Amino acid sequence: MHYHKILVVGGGLAGLRAAVESAPKMDTAIISQVHPVRSHSGAAQGGVNAPLANNPKGKDDSWEKHAYDTTKGSDFLADQDAVEFMTAQAGPCIYEIEHWGCPFSRTADGKIAQRPFGGAGFPRTCYAADKTGLYMLHTLWERSVKLNIPLYEDRVMVDLVLEGDKCRGVICLNMKTGELEPFMGEAVILASGGSGQIYARSTNALISTGSAQAAAYRRGVPLKDMEFVQFHPTSLFGTNILMTEGARGEGGYLINSDGERFMSKYAPSAMELGPRDIVSRSIQTEINEGRGIEGQYVYLDLRHLGRKKILERLPGIRDLAMNFVDVDPIEKPVPIQPGQHYTMGGIATDIDGATKFGGLYSAGECGCVSVHGANRLGGNSLLDTVVFGKRSAAVAVEYILAKDEEKQGEAAMMKGLRETKERIESLLSQRGEENHADIREEMRESMYTRVGIFREGDSMQECLDKIHELKERYSRVTVQNKGMRYNVDLMRAYELEGMLDVAEAITVGALKREESRGAHSRLDFKERDDEHFLKHTIARYSEKGTLIDYSPVTITKYEPVARRY
Ligand SMILES: Cc1cc2nc3c(=O)[nH]c(=O)nc-3n(C[C@H](O)[C@H](O)[C@H](O)COP(=O)(O)OP(=O)(O)OC[C@H]3O[C@@H](n4cnc5c(N)ncnc54)[C@H](O)[C@@H]3O)c2cc1C
Repeated sequence: MHYHKILVVGGGLAGLRAAVESAPKMDTAIISQVHPVRSHSGAAQGGVNAPLANNPKGKDDSWEKHAYDTTKGSDFLADQDAVEFMTAQAGPCIYEIEHWGCPFSRTADGKIAQRPFGGAGFPRTCYAADKTGLYMLHTLWERSVKLNIPLYEDRVMVDLVLEGDKCRGVICLNMKTGELEPFMGEAVILASGGSGQIYARSTNALISTGSAQAAAYRRGVPLKDMEFVQFHPTSLFGTNILMTEGARGEGGYLINSDGERFMSKYAPSAMELGPRDIVSRSIQTEINEGRGIEGQYVYLDLRHLGRKKILERLPGIRDLAMNFVDVDPIEKPVPIQPGQHYTMGGIATDIDGATKFGGLYSAGECGCVSVHGANRLGGNSLLDTVVFGKRSAAVAVEYILAKDEEKQGEAAMMKGLRETKERIESLLSQRGEENHADIREEMRESMYTRVGIFREGDSMQECLDKIHELKERYSRVTVQNKGMRYNVDLMRAYELEGMLDVAEAITVGALKREESRGAHSRLDFKERDDEHFLKHTIARYSEKGTLIDYSPVTITKYEPVARRY
């Protein structure tokens, strides 16, 4: 059995930042499904928020203003103590990664450059051209190499081992050998990213299935605010490849089939830089009311920015538009439509990334410290990964130092191993007429059309019925490939079960929330209802279906008001 004091599951920004924090103080290992630099973090384009006040238009910025914008953006569902912690730590965390070598773009006087982003009062988004996540990820990866942190790659965490109220470790499928491997630790930090692939039309990587999150959920770890799913306004039509918000930050326009800058109707002062929930709904409304081009998309127009600015600030999205839809943004407007983008909810944690199980932490998109509430602001997710990756690891170290016993729980680990083995063997031996890829596609389509940008009770109920039907059909799936090495067929079939569980948690939470707040927009309950729903949704797994409970929102100084932009 592998043993390390701290096991970090996930090699994206949150996982690497956590590992880099704890490794100098304590034996830490990273477990990851893909090589760290292939994590979805590397696809992040637009930038990371910090109130550095480097842009002359942002000279009056402060962490308090960043905290207010974040809270208002969240439609007042974020926990304000967590938001204040994140925004106060933003500057130090960005300078730290800069000093480790992250090549941020620069102002004329050599400071980190900052661009405007949606829902922000000042230009606060630090960037490295339109490849910010890639540069941050490589910087942290190099740091982890320097620190000699052991990496177990091609390992898929398929189960979490809990004993009473303590976490003992994880069970992984080694993709290279097909073996199940137990990893025991004193603390586990789940940093396995989001679950965007539950939806059709997602901007997320194919590995963003939420498999580790689902494994924890199935073992009794609660999920928080799962119904809040972000749709990014601008994904490339037909491919759902992201066109960064930075394109609008640099001054891009959104245009309908009448050639009109339609955001003037929906967010007259912020225009294209309204927060994402509002801009996505505006685009969808234009399309639904017949002002989409070919009835399906609108244009992101960058032509007026000019060749120089596009080549310097937005080279990556120009390449993507040229390669995938044969449009050069210097010459033509880019066809775009909203796409699923981010999961605001996740594993319920406190402000330290700690769950209610001793030794179990979560950070990054997989977790929900609750800094994004009902709608995340662009640039705040990369910030969340570094601030809370660092914090959760620091707290895990303290937790282990304060413990008087170590290496407990071997029997629980062996039991977890046996149970996982039985589940996998039964999946491999079951025979039926169902194909897991079909079930996955039906789930993704149903989630997109019925629990998407606009929602309604009846259609969400249809989606829930569909999920139940798909769960029943899942028991008749045949895994065709019986081999050991790199059995992607098996892995995909296995993770589908967890995706259906998480889809159910999203749908049940959304059905029960009879109001509209942030990204959760209901046609049958159009107003925000603070009296009944200013509270977090807590979803718990049960074999009979998702159980829902609620917990209070922490408010420090910002009383909820109506959002206007
Ligand atoms: C296209 C795109 C652009 C974006 N642009 C921005 C932006 O400009 N600014 C911003 O703030 N945010 C942006 N975001 C959001 C942000 O990039 C992500 O939320 C963030 O990077 C997530 O980081 P993470 O470390 O939590 O997870 P990820 O980077 O997704 O990493 C997850 C890690 O977990 C591992 N893993 C997953 N499941 C398992 C398992 N079962 N077992 C073992 N390992 C597992 C994977 O191998 C991977 O290493 C963007 C997102 C997308 C999709």
